[in-house]
Amino acid sequence: MKIPFYARYRTKQDREDLISCLDGSLATDGFYTQKVLRQISHIYPGSPATLTSSCSVALESALVLGGIKPGDEVILPSYNFPSAANGVLRAGGTPVFCDIDPDTQNISLSSAAAKITARTRAMIPVHYAGVACEMDALLKLAEEARLLVIEDAAQAIGSSYGGKPLGTLGDFGCVSFHYTKNISCGEGGLLIAGNEKACEDARCYRVHGTNRDAFFRGECDRYTWVMQGSSTAPSELCAALLSAQLPFLEQITRIRARRLSDYLTALKPLEQAGYARLMVIPDKAVPNGHIFYLRFASKALRQRVCDLLLAHGVEAKTHYVPLHLSPMGRKLGYGPGDCPESSACFDTLLRLPIHTELEAGQVWQIGEIITKGCVS
Ligand SMILES: *Cc1c(COP(=O)(O)O)cnc(C)c1O
Repeated sequence: MKIPFYARYRTKQDREDLISCLDGSLATDGFYTQKVLRQISHIYPGSPATLTSSCSVALESALVLGGIKPGDEVILPSYNFPSAANGVLRAGGTPVFCDIDPDTQNISLSSAAAKITARTRAMIPVHYAGVACEMDALLKLAEEARLLVIEDAAQAIGSSYGGKPLGTLGDFGCVSFHYTKNISCGEGGLLIAGNEKACEDARCYRVHGTNRDAFFRGECDRYTWVMQGSSTAPSELCAALLSAQLPFLEQITRIRARRLSDYLTALKPLEQAGYARLMVIPDKAVPNGHIFYLRFASKALRQRVCDLLLAHGVEAKTHYVPLHLSPMGRKLGYGPGDCPESSACFDTLLRLPIHTELEAGQVWQIGEIITKGCVS
């Protein structure tokens, strides 16, 4: 048996669109970028959005556009990729790490609330594994404390909360099309803005802070520098690949979500026997099957199961080094005692293969191997 951890969704259209893109000039924001924006408008109806070269730069620009300045504090979970924290530092702000909830590995609202000070300006919740944070309570907390909410929806295309796509509930939402994500073009991202004015600023930011977009819409005679910006638009080649993937979003999400529920069924007895905790899907959350993970009862048990899976050709992976334990986190003044649930997650979480090529029968086989590892 050989079951890879990732398998990029491939279509015949990938090749055709890429080749016909090569016949064009590759000018930024050409035919394929425009096509992707139309496709995106159906996935995120009513939410203005602009394409970026990664989710990381979408987070960076959201922080600048959201007005984060030196001295401002931004709260984000420690069990996380470094992107959002890098964005806060780039804006001159201070990232403040809070802990996670052991059911979802998403931001713990009690931990976040305890970190709010007079200098806190924003919160960056991550929808880990494509499972929504408790957004009703989170948005209420943010409103009471007057905090900007930037959703790190990097893993969350195709997921929703209360019927709304993730990335559209906060002031900004950032999505990733990195090669490991459900929809991918190698590297790419999406910045969703809460209103048209913020999106127009985001459109300027991504083309060197110029009003190039308005110029191409015929709204001015020439384009010029209007605000602080950067060069964060994706290449047309990436947009061509993305335009070939997006029509398959529903299909990809359906298959992955089915494998997620297959895993939950197959592994339920292990949870009942106390070997591991399964991921919890909150009431209003509809997940996209981006990640399937377990949290084992101990680090040693995780190691045993992981080794056994690898011996059977099943690629399983742990995940983040919590930011508060990382060398950079140490430089920011954090240490081992800071976010205990994130540290425990670092020691016990194991991700299993999930993608469109994984079959239901393989999920059951993987379940049997894990069971053998637990009871041995
Ligand atoms: C993938 C990921 C990112 C980074 O996305 P890029 O498009 O690679 O910049 C940021 N945050 C989270 C939670 C991610 O999973």
